[in-house]
Amino acid sequence: MRENVIENHLVQRAKQLGGEVRKVRWIGRRGAPDRLVMLPGRMLWVELKAPGEKVKPHQAREHERMRAMGQTVAVVDSLDEVEAMLA
Ligand SMILES: [Mg+2]
Repeated sequence: MRENVIENHLVQRAKQLGGEVRKVRWIGRRGAPDRLVMLPGRMLWVELKAPGEKVKPHQAREHERMRAMGQTVAVVDSLDEVEAMLA
């Protein structure tokens, strides 16, 4: 399964829950998560991967910087994980 299949599922499910999803890219910095997911009263950053694919070291470093600032950063590589994250 390709990453974009999981990504499309995330967007569709978040919208069903009354949320908004945006694509993300930092200016002048690598490692931004793929998507910002805004749900009523909740916000999370999501890096999507094809099943079994891992985050790259520069992505992992950026995620850790963001988590150190209290951000929720999820790495998701399956449809089931999308559901669990949004539950
Ligand atoms: Mg990705």
